Amino acid sequence: MTVEPCLTWKKCPDGYEITSLRNNDQEYFIVPKSNRLESFYPLKSHSALLKQLAGISTKRGFNQFANFNGLLSHPAKPESIRAWFQTANAMRDASLKAEKYDFDQLTEYFNSNKSEFLNIELECENHIPKFVTKIGSLKGGMWWQFTQSLTNKHSFERCSLCFTWFTVGQGTGRRRRTLNTKHSFCSPKHQGRYKYLQRHNE
Ligand SMILES: [Zn+2]
Repeated sequence: MTVEPCLTWKKCPDGYEITSLRNNDQEYFIVPKSNRLESFYPLKSHSALLKQLAGISTKRGFNQFANFNGLLSHPAKPESIRAWFQTANAMRDASLKAEKYDFDQLTEYFNSNKSEFLNIELECENHIPKFVTKIGSLKGGMWWQFTQSLTNKHSFERCSLCFTWFTVGQGTGRRRRTLNTKHSFCSPKHQGRYKYLQRHNE
């Protein structure tokens, strides 16, 4: 059964910042810079968001991630840096273990949070019925996307120019890098740009 994730998320077009306001636990928070919010579809524009966050371990990195993708659990509620560290660590663990075909972390996370993913509906678009799961948070969407890539036997590669992670394999529209090529690119544009820069740096 193929179930498509459906996540409409919101982000602040003015970006995010780390507050100097701290709570009793002396925690810092990431907050939107204004109360403007715009809807977008993060899972449609990015095929390996979990891998992206798993590679970040600084406050500044989290802030940048939020500028592109919004907050993790609620579109506008201040989110503690500690929660960001915990999420990124859990994703890094699951991702490193999955590379070694150890899916214990992933199974545990997914099964103990499955209520996030069970909102399945049948939709019909252009006379084609399909199952979709309505996901309520960016964090949940990232776990779903990663898990689905693994169950579909997709693998992950990283763009040599912009360092964005993306999925490759059947159904992704991208082929796996062949053994004799050193670099992967998220788009033909970045491949062209990388080659141009290499030629001009020689
Ligand atoms: Zn790229």
